Amino acid sequence: MLFYSTRTSSLKANLEEAVFRSLPSDNGLYMPEFIPTLPQEFLETIENRTFNEIATEVAFALLGDDIPRLDLENIVSGAFTFEAPVAQITPDNFVLELFHGPSMAFKDFGARFMAALMSYFLTRSNKELKILVATSGDTGGAVAQGFYKVPGISVTILYPSGKVSEIQEKQLTTLGHNITALEVAGSFDDCQWLVKEAFLDSELTERFNLASANSINIARLIPQSFYYFAAYAQVKKMGKPVVFSVPSGNFGNLSAGILAYKMGLPVHHFIASTNANNVVPRYLTSNSYTPLPSIETISNAMDVGNPSNFVRLTKLFDEDWEKIREKVSGYYFTDDETQESMRQIFSETNYVMCPHTAVAYNGLQKYRKDSGEDFIGIFLATAHPAKFLDLVEKTLDSSIYIPERLENLLSLEKISIPINVDFDAFKAYLLG
Ligand SMILES: *Cc1c(COP(=O)(O)O)cnc(C)c1O
Repeated sequence: MLFYSTRTSSLKANLEEAVFRSLPSDNGLYMPEFIPTLPQEFLETIENRTFNEIATEVAFALLGDDIPRLDLENIVSGAFTFEAPVAQITPDNFVLELFHGPSMAFKDFGARFMAALMSYFLTRSNKELKILVATSGDTGGAVAQGFYKVPGISVTILYPSGKVSEIQEKQLTTLGHNITALEVAGSFDDCQWLVKEAFLDSELTERFNLASANSINIARLIPQSFYYFAAYAQVKKMGKPVVFSVPSGNFGNLSAGILAYKMGLPVHHFIASTNANNVVPRYLTSNSYTPLPSIETISNAMDVGNPSNFVRLTKLFDEDWEKIREKVSGYYFTDDETQESMRQIFSETNYVMCPHTAVAYNGLQKYRKDSGEDFIGIFLATAHPAKFLDLVEKTLDSSIYIPERLENLLSLEKISIPINVDFDAFKAYLLG
């Protein structure tokens, strides 16, 4: 598979280059040159397969020219040591739980597959790698876990000071070894900007072998398509159309869902659910894309004012706004509405949702009402509620279950390096 740049379609890279470069030299984003469709037989019998069998099949369709099937199987089984179960909440509403990995957020899927893929290529080339990653909360933890103690790789994580939860911060700042956390006096967009600048700085790129682990890396996007197939497999027997509601920030997750659809997954409709950072929902109703500074909300992993995967979303539909609008609806919600549905679902069913998940639930309900259609709705649970312990317990006025893995973290000491939003300072730090 070759990957083209969204800015210059003739600028192409093979898989290994695309994974290690992250960004093409024209600062576009890599996209697969063509999108293969999966065999009908695979989709017809998908319910008989395990998650890893499904993941291998989808990965093989996309990357089978670059990596032998047996190696892909090993990469998949090394990355996905946890499940993506679908749970029924009400007769037609299902939740796809993507928080059973080590960092307890869905970003484990992308980060671990990317880490496995990079290690696969590295062991064949003996390269040393410096990974830079900006995080709004969950990426950092997933990437840190994915690369922890991987030989030949060091990871520098930039996170916005005071804007991630205590548990998220501990996940970034307590591992040590090859993982360093920079605490940035700014927003997530500032962190993202610092990382982007580093990749454009020739002194840094000449001195180090830099790679990005943000959702712009194609190796993170591809594995996120796997769980859409696996979710479909779990509800297929009900024989109704399937609608996915995706809580969105940088829109990697939704883009991966559309990729799955383009590969042949029968999805009736997608819902782009956001908080007050509603650039994409507004684009879907107005056909005008206006990035804005990010606004702080309680679903802070989605506080993104200029979503980095927006271009991919449009490319997947050949930049045809009518086609996008036909397949994707956008809704946005206030923090009050988010907390209201967290309380409602908890009191009616005892199910505890994190605020991001609740945004997706709200999107599903609104679309159900607006469309009047009969379908199986699957909303994506992107993080375990205990990652946002204070907020969730205050909202529900109840104490919630904390997995042991998260509880142990709280007693560890945070080690971070404070920096300002100042590229020269960041560069000086990297140059040591
Ligand atoms: C990153 C994240 C999101 C947003 O996902 P995108 O792929 O950036 O749209 C939603 N929820 C949680 C918990 C996240 O960590």
